[in-house]
Amino acid sequence: MKIDLTNIPPEGKGLDFSLTPDWWKSDLDEDRIMGLEGPLSAWIKLYPAGKKIVVEGSLSARLLLRCDRCLELYGWDLSTDFRLYLLMSPFRGELEVELSEDDLNLDFIDGKFLDSDQIIKEQIILSVPMKTLCTPKCKGLCPMCGCNLNMTRCSCSSRYETSSYQ
Ligand SMILES: [Zn+2]
Ligand SMILES: [Zn+2]
Repeated sequence: MKIDLTNIPPEGKGLDFSLTPDWWKSDLDEDRIMGLEGPLSAWIKLYPAGKKIVVEGSLSARLLLRCDRCLELYGWDLSTDFRLYLLMSPFRGELEVELSEDDLNLDFIDGKFLDSDQIIKEQIILSVPMKTLCTPKCKGLCPMCGCNLNMTRCSCSSRYETSSYQ
């Protein structure tokens, strides 16, 4: 959704919305997140603060993540709050984000419009742990035959230990 940033009333503007699971598009750069397990609910509030516009928001959803070790999908509850500051660029008269983190990308500003979908996507990516594990004790895949050691037991491990012992 594009939010017009040029007519925000002094008391602020609030938006409540929910996004259906088909909203999430897989992204080759982001292979930990496979999708949403249910609808995502979010609210965003924008209000002016001097020369800045404050964007506050909160989102919650159940994500489908891929386990780093066994590659199975599992559900993960996301709940996060965020706050960003937008500043008018003195050179181009466009709004920009005041950067607090170097890796934040600026796709969500398009001239005088804010793309709330991009902000939400960015916040989801920032919230997901770097290492995704279906359970803390996930046994992963057998390095020899590739079977999922959480579900089956193969006979590779004994052979593997024997051969690496020599
Ligand atoms: Zn796993
Ligand atoms: Zn095996």
